[in-house]
Amino acid sequence: MTVNHPWSGAPCKISPRGASMIMRKVRDQPRTTRQDLVNDLKRAGTTVSKKTIRNTLRRHGLKSCSARKVPLLKPAHVQARLKFANDHLDDPEEEWEKVMWSDETKIELFGLNSTRRVWRKKKDEYNPKNTIPTVKHGGGNIILWGCFSAKGTGRLHRIEGRMDGAMYREILANNLLPSVRALKMGRGWVFQHDNDPKHTARETKEWLRKKHLKVLEWPSQSPDLNPIENLWRELKVRIAQRQPRNLKDLEKVCMEECVPPAPPPTTALTCVLRCFPCEPSWAGSPFLHRPPTPPHPMVRMTRSKTFQAYLPSCHRTYSCIHCRAHLANHDELISKSFQGSQGRAYLFNSVVNVGCGPAEERVLLTGLHAVADIYCENCKTTLGWKYEHAFESSQKYKEGKFIIELAHMIKDNGWD
Ligand SMILES: [Zn+2]
Repeated sequence: MTVNHPWSGAPCKISPRGASMIMRKVRDQPRTTRQDLVNDLKRAGTTVSKKTIRNTLRRHGLKSCSARKVPLLKPAHVQARLKFANDHLDDPEEEWEKVMWSDETKIELFGLNSTRRVWRKKKDEYNPKNTIPTVKHGGGNIILWGCFSAKGTGRLHRIEGRMDGAMYREILANNLLPSVRALKMGRGWVFQHDNDPKHTARETKEWLRKKHLKVLEWPSQSPDLNPIENLWRELKVRIAQRQPRNLKDLEKVCMEECVPPAPPPTTALTCVLRCFPCEPSWAGSPFLHRPPTPPHPMVRMTRSKTFQAYLPSCHRTYSCIHCRAHLANHDELISKSFQGSQGRAYLFNSVVNVGCGPAEERVLLTGLHAVADIYCENCKTTLGWKYEHAFESSQKYKEGKFIIELAHMIKDNGWD
């Protein structure tokens, strides 16, 4: 694709030939430095500065960016991940609710503290509350084994010393099985752990087989697929807030934070997981949005998405273009011929995952109405408005209906 930019400023110091030469080079070798390109052009008889190189590449739509860090995936890993995704693409929610996820994690004593700012008065600068202890190697760390499922968090265990296969099996016996019982996983639950050699050792496999545990086949090098990563992240954030001063304190804080406040007993840290069910009674979770009103009967409430509701995937639906939260079913569309502030807008009979601001009177093209801005509950983008009241009888049909601007919607699901 070529990008045409309006002519601006000084003429290009690089000829089109020179420009295509450096474009070719960075396409083949994205890691080429600007100095390399200056040298290349010099050899070809053109002397330019690094700034000119940068400007030329920018004009062609390329910017110097940091290379993203990704797990080192061999072709076999890629294949295994793809197979895993394909195998489970259509798994119903209930299948995932049967999985007991597990993992080990290292928790640094001062892991997240280094980035924290404090509100304090000048004289309180050395109050321990306001300081960050600087210790070599982050003050030490502890290693934890933990597990959780859709039903809540299981036991958390501190691993002391080097874990070998025998220790791992002991952890499973003393923590996994009691957690499964406590969470009432029922028959048919599935155990997930990664392919660490301790997990896949022959004796461990044998142990799992003897205990009749079903193990989820897991692609290697895929920690990003394990939802427990979200739980570890949340735990680390909470630890930073609690500011443990030593490793013993750290362990205590971890255990406390992973035990849900009573009641209800099944509510747990898992509630903040973006992908897993939540008890509606959990308050204060930053990721959950409670429905302000009972959902439309069309809508199946789900406990498995960040979104309050999601529409059946067989239906033609409209989603928020910014976050993909479902917004409306195509069947609820009344009219496509409305005008919003950003162009065309649609009128819907009902919508989901949408919050409503205060109503106010506005003069619209079709007369005076009381309207309220509506926004995506999930990403908070203003989407359009709701007609609360129409003052003219010809406009009464709009009352209680919703306008969403086309610019904020994307079509999802069964459109083809
Ligand atoms: Zn959104």
